[in-house]
Amino acid sequence: MREDLAFPLVFNKERLVARFVAPTGLAAEKVVEVRTDPITGRTCRITYARVDEKETGTASLPVPPPTAVDRAGCPFCRPQINRLTPQLPKGFADAGRLVCGNSVLFPNLFPYGSFSAVSLFDDRHFVEIGTADATSYADSFINCRQYLKRVLVMEPKAQYLAVTQNHLPSAGGSLVHPHLQVHADLVAPNHLRFLQARADAYSQNQGRLLMSEYLKREIASQERIIGSSGDWHWLAAFAPEGFYEIWAILPGATSLIGVPTARWTELSSGLMRVQRFFRSLNRNGYNLGLVAVETPESRLELRLRVVVRANHAPWTRNDHTGYEVILGDMATFTAPEETAAMARRFWE
Ligand SMILES: [Zn+2]
Repeated sequence: MREDLAFPLVFNKERLVARFVAPTGLAAEKVVEVRTDPITGRTCRITYARVDEKETGTASLPVPPPTAVDRAGCPFCRPQINRLTPQLPKGFADAGRLVCGNSVLFPNLFPYGSFSAVSLFDDRHFVEIGTADATSYADSFINCRQYLKRVLVMEPKAQYLAVTQNHLPSAGGSLVHPHLQVHADLVAPNHLRFLQARADAYSQNQGRLLMSEYLKREIASQERIIGSSGDWHWLAAFAPEGFYEIWAILPGATSLIGVPTARWTELSSGLMRVQRFFRSLNRNGYNLGLVAVETPESRLELRLRVVVRANHAPWTRNDHTGYEVILGDMATFTAPEETAAMARRFWE
């Protein structure tokens, strides 16, 4: 975090130039942009020199994984879901699993915390990116909300909420059957703890809400605005921490369990557009996340983040290198303004 940029919000870009003698023998200059995220103060690098470099495995959409046809071996497919997935404790949900439309929610067999569950979209075993049914996503999100509400009745201190998705193994998914993970934790994960501190400090210093102010600046500039779906505003991240990072902000909303059904439907419709955009880039894996601190005094507004991941194909380059893992700065190739321009046609 860069302390000087704590507040007010500054969209800072620094241009660095690398000079060398190219293999042709001619003098060469390559520009690198260091951007600071006004929300977190974290820096990222846009290495423009690599923008024309063709990422391996992106000439076409990857073929489905071998497990895409293995319904019989999938614990999330019906009817074996009833036999192979765990159940919620009695008193929490007497039926053992929560249902919303075609979505089924059950505890995560491999939990990350005290309250860790899996929310399926429907009974479709393999769903190619950009072909999902928006209603199934809305049902699954609403099922997560239903679960989180019950958790908070049982354990009000489990206030650190997250809904995440690892679509396909390239994004960390262990099963191809599409699903969300939903968490309510007493211990804040790093990003959530940090975001909470930033949102609180901004509110105390400026008397305003951080995400709303960020969005206001972005709407004024229009450079990275992509479109909207109902009350959600979609935009490319100014200082991305993932490839083609896209956000959806719901200004003024700080409670995840308070999001009404209509907003989940709107969010899902926007997310389908993002998926079609990613598909147009021949990328099929992505991570998604929506977090909240579920307390009346929370100043952290809802923001969905979606980032594409490197395709799974033999010997593809992983998108996390020494720069990200050791130095902690994402090095991406595409300007966020370009990401927004490319994504806009999916909102037309
Ligand atoms: Zn399945």
